Amino acid sequence: MNTPNHPPQNISDTDPTLASQDPKDRLELVGLTGDEWKASIGALLKEEKQPAYRGKTLSSWVFKHLATSFDQMSDLPKAFRENLAQKTILHPLTESNRQVSEDGTEKFLWRLNSGHALESVFIPDGNRRTFCISTQAGCPVKCTFCATGYGGFDGQLTPGQIVDQVIQLSHSTGMLPTNIVFMGMGEPLLNAPNVYKSIEILTAPDQLGLGTRRLTLSTVGIPKRIIELAKLHPQVKLAVSLHATNDELRDEIIPLNKQYPLEMLLSSIKEHHRITGKKVTFEYIILPGVNDSEEDARALARIARSTPSRVNLIGFNPFPQAHYGKPTVPQIQWFRNEIATRFDGEIMIRRSRGEDIQGACGQLSLLHADDKS
Ligand code: SF4
Repeated sequence: MNTPNHPPQNISDTDPTLASQDPKDRLELVGLTGDEWKASIGALLKEEKQPAYRGKTLSSWVFKHLATSFDQMSDLPKAFRENLAQKTILHPLTESNRQVSEDGTEKFLWRLNSGHALESVFIPDGNRRTFCISTQAGCPVKCTFCATGYGGFDGQLTPGQIVDQVIQLSHSTGMLPTNIVFMGMGEPLLNAPNVYKSIEILTAPDQLGLGTRRLTLSTVGIPKRIIELAKLHPQVKLAVSLHATNDELRDEIIPLNKQYPLEMLLSSIKEHHRITGKKVTFEYIILPGVNDSEEDARALARIARSTPSRVNLIGFNPFPQAHYGKPTVPQIQWFRNEIATRFDGEIMIRRSRGEDIQGACGQLSLLHADDKS
């Protein structure tokens, strides 16, 4: 079995964020929750001797007009705009690469001031416009089938760095998302406080105002955080990257399973359903000869039956560092049918998107790793 070739790291959900990368420690405007906005921008307005109503004007430029520069904020005094540019950051991300697939999928590579990189993906599909966004720069979990896992871990993204992906993707594509999935680089529940803040900002009516039901969080499984998510954000859909149906194999391909074995994970998923009433989606990446036997299908069906759920099957999309094969369409179809004879819920075969542009998450940043400053 191949494993990412960097040394093991402690996996913790209290790793520091990349927040203090700005030498002047400026406020990231797009990362302030409503309460933080009132407090921080209220103090700034006082300092600048500006009337309080300008806080709303500024908020409207940031979250409703999606302003790209302070210069656009024509109804704010010029001197105030100049001071805002000194004291705050409008967009913490800078686009450093963009690739467009033949199927319309677009991958964006962003650079932070620190030189670290992260990715987002825009996936158009009929009327659906899905934004797949990152929550960490790299990832400490090191799953063996995931390009991000081979690139190392640089740090937690701030709420502003998470939200700015949505704002900048909306700009670049000219469209707001119909769906947002926390499924890019990183394990969202290892950066839970910042992810929760970003959910607040994305959904608050006087900020981005996107419906909570449009959000899906995908995790390899941190039980206490799954229950916390259910309590704090019951409308956010839960997807669990299962990928193996026994601890022996799951320990091998998802190292975090050693900390949170399957029994704990499945019991937290049941609790999530009890609190939210929502079905979980089990994601299962098909690794030929590794997790796609008849016995695997039987075990997957058993797990899917144990709680209200749907199953998403994804064929592995090869990349140089991981030595798994690519399943054929008949192999995937056979595995699907094996599950379907034992589980009568929804089983989707997810189309692989953007294969011609380094389709799997993390591949674009691995490709450009040498560009890091
Ligand atoms: S699959 Fe998710 S948790 Fe695993 S290494 Fe990739 S980004 Fe991290």
